Amino acid sequence: MNLTNTKKVLSEMKTKLCYTCLAEGDVMYRIQIQKGKKWIFVCPKCQAKYAQGDFYRYGGTWKGYRH
Ligand SMILES: [Zn+2]
Repeated sequence: MNLTNTKKVLSEMKTKLCYTCLAEGDVMYRIQIQKGKKWIFVCPKCQAKYAQGDFYRYGGTWKGYRH
């Protein structure tokens, strides 16, 4: 195991707060939940909830631990 690399990965790990429930996570979904509105980041739980909505748009997955 390479200790230097492990330390590097940990120090670069970031998290975001879910826009709607404020849960902290290192995997967030970039979505729109209202027509013409801005992109927001939400946790997987909220994403599943908003995916039912009429104006839901998916814009990608954010991963804090990726490089
Ligand atoms: Zn959430």
